[in-house]
Amino acid sequence: MKKRTFLHLSAAAMVTPILAPLTAWARDEKLKNWAGNYEYSTNRLFPAKSVADVQALVRQHKKLKVLGTRHCFNGIADSRDNLISVRPLDQLISLDAQARTVTVGAGMSYGQLCPTLHEKGFALHNLASLPHISIAGACTTATHGSGDKNGNLSTAVAAIELVTAAGEVITLSRERDGERFRGAVVGLGALGVITKVTLDVQPTFQMRQDVYENLPLSQLKLHFDYITSGGDSVSLFTDWRAERCNEVWIKRRVEPGTKPTAAAPEFFGARLATRNLHPIVELSAENCTEQMGVPGPWYERMPHFRMGFTPSSGKELQSEYFVPRQHAVEAILAVQKLHAQVSPHLMISEIRTIAADEFWMSTAYRQASVAIHFTWQQDWPAVRKLLPVIERELSPFGVRPHWGKLFTVPAAQLQARYEKLADFRALAREFDPQGKFQNQFLAATVWGS
Ligand SMILES: Cc1cc2nc3c(=O)[nH]c(=O)nc-3n(C[C@H](O)[C@H](O)[C@H](O)COP(=O)(O)OP(=O)(O)OC[C@H]3O[C@@H](n4cnc5c(N)ncnc54)[C@H](O)[C@@H]3O)c2cc1C
Repeated sequence: MKKRTFLHLSAAAMVTPILAPLTAWARDEKLKNWAGNYEYSTNRLFPAKSVADVQALVRQHKKLKVLGTRHCFNGIADSRDNLISVRPLDQLISLDAQARTVTVGAGMSYGQLCPTLHEKGFALHNLASLPHISIAGACTTATHGSGDKNGNLSTAVAAIELVTAAGEVITLSRERDGERFRGAVVGLGALGVITKVTLDVQPTFQMRQDVYENLPLSQLKLHFDYITSGGDSVSLFTDWRAERCNEVWIKRRVEPGTKPTAAAPEFFGARLATRNLHPIVELSAENCTEQMGVPGPWYERMPHFRMGFTPSSGKELQSEYFVPRQHAVEAILAVQKLHAQVSPHLMISEIRTIAADEFWMSTAYRQASVAIHFTWQQDWPAVRKLLPVIERELSPFGVRPHWGKLFTVPAAQLQARYEKLADFRALAREFDPQGKFQNQFLAATVWGS
């Protein structure tokens, strides 16, 4: 092992040899996020194989952050001191068919859970664009998919089990814990180590996905609500280069027993695609879920990208901004105005809708939202200059940035957009009085002035 390699085993971890799953990082290389744009400040990564391991690690260290599947683009998961991974806790713990819930270890990814859930006759209400991400990491950052009636992924959470800074195991449930539960689910990794998640499930279903090309912006202006309600989940992709959306992805449930029907050749002026497409049109659609109206299980249609394949482009940066749904068209036009500055640095933008929820730190807290997402080329100096320009244009709409992506919104503005921030801080102090789970990102956003 070289000097910079610090894959440590705690005293508790020594009891159970748990090094194996993470040895890929035990080389002379810095630990980075999935996109490679963010280098974590330490390589001291402790894998935990059991809740007891988590408790021991938490008790042993003064400072600690949990690392999920590393799909965030900023420093939200970073630590200068110690990182813990609960990826080995990836078991399906129980499926309660009567209560319609599934309980999983917090290290499980959606890609691991979904096929098993489907086999057992159940489904989740929605998924993000990729199944590769950890369930706990996604829910704690308010990760979302699309759909006027779909809350973000955390809205499926019925309970969480959490190890607090004192090493205590607590459970918070929707049924029992009311406001505290609503404060903790989108917890931004600030409250403790989530070790189990219970999710609502529903009977499994089939979906189809149809893609249309070249939706005129004039149609979007006039018919935004009709367009986004054109399916259970609708995504609009644009490069902002012309007054149109390059692609419209429409995902619809297929009712059992119905015969497959041909999709309409036109959708608000957009033409039905005649082959599978990638949102970044130059890239191979092989990485994408099946389109062309072919029915398939929900988990192979709701995400855009297939498990086992690289999602999106790989070498990229991402930003995303949420505005109240009633300002959707104005906000989209505000970004369109910036096309000459935005497009040269962009791979693709995606516009999605999210139903309101009740989680204090959720980007959709008490507001049905529209998300405007940017997949950037990996040129941080250029993107860093652009983000304040976009944020200024979206500021009149009370914009909230995605917690896991890149943004430059000043702390004071950000905090003013979360009316339950003071309650969230109080909850964080209760679970973590000494700031064990705080890091620079949280200091600058949630706590900073
Ligand atoms: C290609 C790509 C596509 C994406 N598509 C979408 C999309 O469609 N919609 C969307 O909203 N986002 C999307 N994202 C963003 C991303 O998926 C989310 O932000 C999510 O947080 C990633 O989960 P993770 O486990 O990788 O988190 P990480 O980056 O590993 O961690 C994120 C945060 O979660 C905390 N955390 C993780 N596990 C735990 C735990 N067990 N207990 C307590 N805290 C924990 C970490 O401490 C950190 O604060 C995408 C990202 C990529 C790279």
